[in-house]
Amino acid sequence: MTVLFALLAAVALVAYWHLRRRRAKEKARHVREISELRIHHAEDLAAHEQRLETLLDSMIDGLIVLDAGGRIVLSNRAAESTFGFTRQMIGGTLLEAVRNHEVAALASRLGAESKILDHELRLEVSPTRDLQVNAITLRDTNHAAVGAMLVFHDITRLRELEGARQEFVANVSHELRTPLSLIKSAAETLLDGAKADASALDRLLQIIDRHADRLTLLIDDLLLLAQLDSGRLLVSPQPVALRAAVQEVFEDLALRAQVREVRLENGIPPGLVASADPDRLRQVFSNLVDNGIKYGRSGGHLTVTAAPVPGNKVEVCVHDDGPGIPREAQSRVFERFYRVDKARSREQGGTGLGLAIVKHAVQAHGGEVRVESEPGQGSAFYFTLPAAGTDH
Ligand code: ADP
Repeated sequence: MTVLFALLAAVALVAYWHLRRRRAKEKARHVREISELRIHHAEDLAAHEQRLETLLDSMIDGLIVLDAGGRIVLSNRAAESTFGFTRQMIGGTLLEAVRNHEVAALASRLGAESKILDHELRLEVSPTRDLQVNAITLRDTNHAAVGAMLVFHDITRLRELEGARQEFVANVSHELRTPLSLIKSAAETLLDGAKADASALDRLLQIIDRHADRLTLLIDDLLLLAQLDSGRLLVSPQPVALRAAVQEVFEDLALRAQVREVRLENGIPPGLVASADPDRLRQVFSNLVDNGIKYGRSGGHLTVTAAPVPGNKVEVCVHDDGPGIPREAQSRVFERFYRVDKARSREQGGTGLGLAIVKHAVQAHGGEVRVESEPGQGSAFYFTLPAAGTDH
């Protein structure tokens, strides 16, 4: 009996010992699994945060997220570079980071207001930047405010374009009004009785005719520029023999050159061929040669030369020996309606759009245009075109 009892006790002890070992093993396995899960979880979280950071930093718009106390909890690179702060500012107040009272005031309105959209902000930094700010209150599921998010969209370029457009409209109106008012006053003078005087009749009709021509020229140039600008005017490049193209333009403008006693020289080597749209190229040559005649020296020289340049291109140069263009005006002559001498340009029948058309037409061919001028030493207008091999 005692033996049996001892045996049973031993079996129970062994079973208990096994049970404990198995439990210990299971516990160890659980601990291992939990710690592995924790590691995975932490890795997932880190990868997730990294992805979020990369995503936010690749945003073009600036982003700042605030907690309920108005402290920064998140910001992206665009916001940091716009306002010039670092990520060290996380935890600080918005005003400390952005140092801009208008932005801080905007954020303080949130909570009471759920969103503030399209607020325009001008940053007086150099160069000035215009931002559009959208700010919203962040709320939890119970609708309680838990923070705010501010998004800054850069609209500097948009504002610049708007300014240029307004200036353009003002210029066009002015340019149209001048010949129109001259036509109107000539017509009124005629109606008031001047038509009875043959010489006055002739003079006034000539004024009407001249200014109607000027209006037509202006409208043609405006339409052409608008088409070039929008890319609607397709250039159809084909091989163009440059020497012959220049010669045609010289013939068209021979009378004008003769009046100002300007000698036209075609220095383009025979056989040089560019890939260009013949009509657009004619316009480019015509505007540059006409300017050389108009603004060059009376009794002077105008020369057109061209040569192949690296990159399978041809560079053309229209050079006069006139008074040249002041240095400060050289970067502006390709702008619409920019004139160095307004009165002289109008007196010569200029629309102020000639060089803008040249620039756009050359760019439509993938070329570039520039001017070199030493005051008193003439002006040289250079432009490039794709080469088209040699004409045999
Ligand atoms: P415009 O109709 O006045 O001729 P453009 O756009 O052709 O307009 O030229 C812009 C301005 O550039 C002209 O008003 C003139 O002041 C200046 N300019 C252009 N070509 C020359 C040149 N060859 N020599 C001196 N000034 C020039």
